[in-house]
Amino acid sequence: MPRAPAKADLPTKTCAHCGRPFAWRKKWSRDWEQVRYCSDACRRKVPALAKREDEPWQRS
Ligand SMILES: [Zn+2]
Repeated sequence: MPRAPAKADLPTKTCAHCGRPFAWRKKWSRDWEQVRYCSDACRRKVPALAKREDEPWQRS
């Protein structure tokens, strides 16, 4: 029986739209680095202007 990683061990990010934390999902396994939103709904709500590659909130 395969062992799934404990939920607490999953990486998390903060949604760039709603600001809520969300955890890694299997469907994002290929492009987790690019994931910025907790859901398609949030991604759709982001203004086109904010969809640039160079996102201000990613800067330190
Ligand atoms: Zn969100």
